[in-house]
Amino acid sequence: MIDLHCHTLHSDGTDTPESLALLGESARLSALCLTDHDTLGGIPRFLAMQSQVKVRLLVGTELSCRFLGQSLHVLGLLVDPGDAVFEARLEELRGRREDRNRRMLLRLAELGCPITIEDVQAHADTPLLSRVHFAKALAARGFVRRAPEAFERLIGDDCPGFVPREELSPTEAARWIREAGGVPVVAHPGRFIGGGFRWDDAMADLQRQGLEGLEGFYGEYRASEQKYFVALAARLGMVVTGGSDYHGANKPGLRLGRGRGGLQVPDDLLDRLETQQKFGSYH
Ligand code: AMP
Ligand code: MN
Ligand code: MN
Ligand code: MN
Repeated sequence: MIDLHCHTLHSDGTDTPESLALLGESARLSALCLTDHDTLGGIPRFLAMQSQVKVRLLVGTELSCRFLGQSLHVLGLLVDPGDAVFEARLEELRGRREDRNRRMLLRLAELGCPITIEDVQAHADTPLLSRVHFAKALAARGFVRRAPEAFERLIGDDCPGFVPREELSPTEAARWIREAGGVPVVAHPGRFIGGGFRWDDAMADLQRQGLEGLEGFYGEYRASEQKYFVALAARLGMVVTGGSDYHGANKPGLRLGRGRGGLQVPDDLLDRLETQQKFGSYH
C-alpha cells in the first residue's frame, strides 16, 4: 500500500517530517509522498529520513486553483525539489497567501473578532499560516468555543470572514508542475459532488487544461465515489492516484495510509504514475 497525499507542520498538519516518515514505516507503506500546501519546506528533512526507513519517500505539493467558481486543489506529484523556477513560483503563492491573511484579519476585526497575526502565528510551527491556524486563534481568544465552529460561522468558504486568495488557473498549475518534472493531479474531486456539478464534463475540461491524473482513492471517499472516479479516469485515459490527506491532529480520526479505515491505495498506481511522469504528455 502507498499514500500519495499528506501534510506536516510545514503547512496545516501537525507531524514533523521525521515523524511522518516513521509513521509511514510503521503503517507498512511501500511509498509515501509528502504534499504540503504551497511549499516544499518539509522536503529536505523528509528525504533525510530515507536512510532510516524502507518506505520510499517521495516529493510533492498541493496547490489551490480557481475552477468553475470553486477552489480546486491540484497535487504536484514527483516534482523536482531542486527546481529553482518552481521554488520561486511557490514563493509567489506564499506571498499571495500572506496578502490574503492580512485582509482576513481586517475582515474579522470588522466582524467583531479582532485577532492579530501574532495570535495566529502562535498556533503554527511554520510561517505558512492557513485557516486551520486562524481557527485555533479565534478559539483561543474566545470568539468561538472550538476551532471547528470558526469554520462554521466565520472563516469557512461561504462565511463572512473568509477572503479568497488570488488563485491559479488549472492550466497554470499544470504547466508549473510539469515544468518542475512532476505530474499534475486533480486532488479529491469527490469534494465537489452535488450542487449540479458534473464531473464527466469538468474532468475532461481539466484534462484539456493539462491535468494528467485524478485522486481516485481518498481518505474520506465513500466506496461509490472511489468506483466512479476510478472508472472516470479509465474512460478519459488519466492516471489514478490515492492518498489519505493525513493532517495529524488537525484531522482527527484520519490515519496515514488508511484514511477513515477503509483506504487501500495499491502499489501499482505508483508504477503507472512514474510511467506517466516519464512519457506523459505535456500540453
Ligand atoms: P487556507 O489554505 O488557508 O485557505 O486553509 C484551507 C485549509 O483549511 C484546508 O486545507 C483545510 O485543512 C482547512 N479547512 C477548510 N475548510 C474547512 C472546514 N469547513 N472545516 C475544517 N477545516 C477546513
Ligand atoms: Mn490542508
Ligand atoms: Mn486539498
Ligand atoms: Mn491535502
